[in-house]
Amino acid sequence: MIIIRTPAEMRDWSLAARATGSTIGFVPTMGALHEGHASLLRAAAAQNDKAVASIFVNPTQFAPNEDFAAYPRTFDADRAMCEEAGIGVIYAPDANALYPEGYATYVNVEKVSAGLCGASRPIFFRGVATVVAKLFNTVLPHRAYFGQKDAQQCAVIRRMTRDLDFGVEIVEMPTVREADGLAMSSRNRYLTPEERQQALAISRGLFKARAMMEGGERDSLVLVNAVRNEMDALNIDYVELVDANTIEPLARATGRVLLAAAAWVGKARLIDNIQYEVPEQ
Ligand code: AMP
Repeated sequence: MIIIRTPAEMRDWSLAARATGSTIGFVPTMGALHEGHASLLRAAAAQNDKAVASIFVNPTQFAPNEDFAAYPRTFDADRAMCEEAGIGVIYAPDANALYPEGYATYVNVEKVSAGLCGASRPIFFRGVATVVAKLFNTVLPHRAYFGQKDAQQCAVIRRMTRDLDFGVEIVEMPTVREADGLAMSSRNRYLTPEERQQALAISRGLFKARAMMEGGERDSLVLVNAVRNEMDALNIDYVELVDANTIEPLARATGRVLLAAAAWVGKARLIDNIQYEVPEQ
């Protein structure tokens, strides 16, 4: 396992790999890896000649009142998981290496960043797009792997990749869940056993609404209320039905839809979603 700490060394490694004709698969993460990440790591390793994972808790996507300092950091376990999944390189730069004194450049992806998580976390997607752009510029991947658990993030990255001509293929992987339906998340570590039980209301509500869509329900209000009813003991941030590509709110389900929810459970802000392709009439 190669561990790389600086953008210059990362870029040199990638240029050398490309020079030999190797394809590079890339998985950006913030560490505290779990089975959800592992599915991305394994896909990157299987589908490319070389696979790189980054582990970087990105300060620019956290607001001052958020959990940057408390975010779990588990490098040794992460390294073992990467190794097991077939990752050859971990890129784990220091914050100073990515954001040196005087840093002033940010990527704003308009429209898709505005709703859902963008509404309650106004600087979040600016930070995500900026760091992913920087990572793409140094890792120089052919393919990059993202989880549908963060569906709006996927939409932002797809838009940015197209708009800025990165020439990276964006591969989306399905959400990995615990046996009882809870979407895996590094932030699940914040939950007490009781809170973890309460958190199940999110996936339960979303699954119920998906069954309603499969049964023909198309009314956004009805679908959103079905999820909200399940989640009524939680501190809900949002439940919304939106277009999966544009993240624009929908009054009725049509095309590829994203039903997304966010809620506070104890100290954790959890998100989850389901996607559904509405069959043409
Ligand atoms: P994070 O470390 O939380 O920034 O996540 C890194 C990548 O792993 C992102 O593309 C996430 O969408 C993805 N990911 C996180 N949790 C899951 C999950 N439960 N299933 C699938 N992908 C996930």
